[in-house]
Amino acid sequence: MRKPIIAGNWKMNKTKAEAVSFLQDVKNSVPAADKVDSVVCSPDLFLDALVQEAEGTDVHIAAQNMHFEDNGAFTGETSPAALKDLGVTFVVLGHSERRDMFGETDESVNKKVKAALNHGLTPIVCVGETLDERESDKTNDVVTKQVNGALEGLTEDQVKGIVVAYEPVWAIGTGKTATSEQANDTCSVIRAALANTFSAETADQVRIQYGGSVKPANIQELLGQSDIDGALVGGASLEADSFLKLAEAG
Ligand code: PGA
Repeated sequence: MRKPIIAGNWKMNKTKAEAVSFLQDVKNSVPAADKVDSVVCSPDLFLDALVQEAEGTDVHIAAQNMHFEDNGAFTGETSPAALKDLGVTFVVLGHSERRDMFGETDESVNKKVKAALNHGLTPIVCVGETLDERESDKTNDVVTKQVNGALEGLTEDQVKGIVVAYEPVWAIGTGKTATSEQANDTCSVIRAALANTFSAETADQVRIQYGGSVKPANIQELLGQSDIDGALVGGASLEADSFLKLAEAG
């Protein structure tokens, strides 16, 4: 079946010393990599140090974003080639904060997903509706459009390897988690969209995470749902103890 994937998204938090110390605290205690994928999504600045610190352990290091071009005049951006060269293995793409504050669109996310795959990086593709969209019953349409937009033009084999993170925008950093039933319903809609656009066999293999105020107290119930294969966690991933509890629940 699908291996659980627990990813801590630090966002713009921590200094290098704090990042390295976190990794030292967790690296020998996360579950074995054949049972759970434990992923730390760090600011680019600390990726090099974290990859080195994680070497030979079961922790994967991820970037939180990247550009889709290999190189060029893109001041302030990071290329997929540079991430790959460092030893980064996953990259979060299309997080709602990037869509909302930095102009990411389904189209740019699609270019980034293709670039990540071309460089052997595993994309964690974020989708999710706003509160307005949920209240006007548009959730299913919104996530279906985002999934299809982000994955347009991919082969089935490529799709099988990606991770989708369903993160309702109204549940991120608000302390309001979707109920496990609401979360699972939308993850099922995402899987159905994948089956419809690609195939049931492909959809069955894609790992879908839930994200939005996940913490040690609610992760078990969320992971117990049929279509939820992991979690993308912000606030509760910042402390080593809490991250370990989340990874152990996977
Ligand atoms: P949160 O953030 O766990 O703090 O709600 C989740 C995310 O944005 O990935």
